[in-house]
Amino acid sequence: MKFKGGYNILLKGRPASTVKAMPEPKSLYLPLYSERFTFTDIRVKDGQKVSGGDILATDPNNHAVPLLAPRAGKVSLKAIENHIVLEDVARLEEHADIAEKELQHVEREMGAAGIKRYKLLSLGAWQFFYDAFTGALPDPLGTPQAVIVSTLSLEPFLTRGDIQLHKRLLNFTRGLEHLQSLLEYQPIYMVMPNISSEFANLIRNQIRGYALVKMLEIPLKYPYDHFAILARRLNLKADGGSVWAVRSEGVLAVDRALTLTKPCTVRIVSIGGIGVNMPTHMKVMPGYPIQKIKENYIFEPAARVINGGILTGRILEADTLGVDTECRGITVLRELHEREFLGFIRPGWSRHSYANCYLSSLRKKFEEKYTTGVRGELRPCISCNFCEEVCPAGIMPHLIHKYLYADLIEEAEQARVDLCVECGLCSYVCPSKIDLRKQLIEAKALIAKEKEEIRQEQLRQKELQKQQEEARKLSEEKAQ
Ligand code: SF4
Ligand code: SF4
Repeated sequence: MKFKGGYNILLKGRPASTVKAMPEPKSLYLPLYSERFTFTDIRVKDGQKVSGGDILATDPNNHAVPLLAPRAGKVSLKAIENHIVLEDVARLEEHADIAEKELQHVEREMGAAGIKRYKLLSLGAWQFFYDAFTGALPDPLGTPQAVIVSTLSLEPFLTRGDIQLHKRLLNFTRGLEHLQSLLEYQPIYMVMPNISSEFANLIRNQIRGYALVKMLEIPLKYPYDHFAILARRLNLKADGGSVWAVRSEGVLAVDRALTLTKPCTVRIVSIGGIGVNMPTHMKVMPGYPIQKIKENYIFEPAARVINGGILTGRILEADTLGVDTECRGITVLRELHEREFLGFIRPGWSRHSYANCYLSSLRKKFEEKYTTGVRGELRPCISCNFCEEVCPAGIMPHLIHKYLYADLIEEAEQARVDLCVECGLCSYVCPSKIDLRKQLIEAKALIAKEKEEIRQEQLRQKELQKQQEEARKLSEEKAQ
């Protein structure tokens, strides 16, 4: 399978390659939720003193993935709703919160590989893993059909892989070795840009000696780095078992957990967009106060702060006070509350359009100052086909949109809405500014819910039949 669709958008506010350490905070505000996790099993008490690396809470629905204390401090459970607050934060020696007894039990049951997997989970490295097809956290004790390691991050303005790897190539290759030791014969696909840069060449040379690692070089076009698109490109089948997917930062976390037995609590997070003073990368820990980041970087008074990239990120709600455990970037856009007067007929010298219908198409390559304004475009589908052209999943978003508008869910399912990887390109290029991505995500969720309900009903019927059968046999036996 070849790559389909894709599109690169040039926007102003791209983070520089520098990584800045943020000042140590006095308090940390750890959100109890992130994109995939909800930490409901609280393991600490109000007022308890903890060390850096201690397990504060776990997510019981996600293989008990832990929320770790990034620093030593005093726990406050009641201060802020949906957060664990760490007060009087101090940077002391970190601690690996692994129970010796548990470790012995795991070793007896699963041997050395089991210990490694247990360490990855307990030390916070496993949360960097995804199932390539579903995006969910894979089972740490499962066996994948393959592993995809990506050094890329193509959505504006998420933290790029080369920034993560800067001066840490040795840690990266050691992390790959650890990954390899978790597998039997399954391949590791290493995703690289198909360009010849000094850095890319350095990685290629480092990787050459690894038998299980196969190189996959891809064009630098969004969203070819998406794990589901890569898995399809590699002809891996969704029903052939889990495909583990991990980015550079995840491989570095594997190295930290398995070489040093240390918790993985610090992340490199990008801060970009036109509302930011000097877009860059920050070294922060989960729970780092958003307010402090705003004071340091955001100059725009009316700003929309997004947790994630321009196309797939979610608005950071005002009641989220700290960086969550999965944050990969913070994007800040100027918020336009009012519809611009006659915005639609403006010549568009300053904006990009996939359609090349604005004056800007006469300009040389330039970076657009992207805001939240839609400049009056909201209107019905004009059947321009742009969404279909850019869709990397090879589906027809405009057709599915029409089916959904007419409540034709079955037809939307037949049009393979399930293949949508939620990259957001269709919404971006749509000249009518229809939020196709949102509609398709909602449709997928609805179809999945209906399927689950049917499955549950079938199970219930089966159970009922079994009970009736048993009751019939019992009454026959009694009658004899
Ligand atoms: S339909 Fe889905 S995969 Fe296709 S462009 Fe839209 S969001 Fe991306
Ligand atoms: S890009 Fe928008 S207007 Fe064009 S076909 Fe797709 S949904 Fe319709």
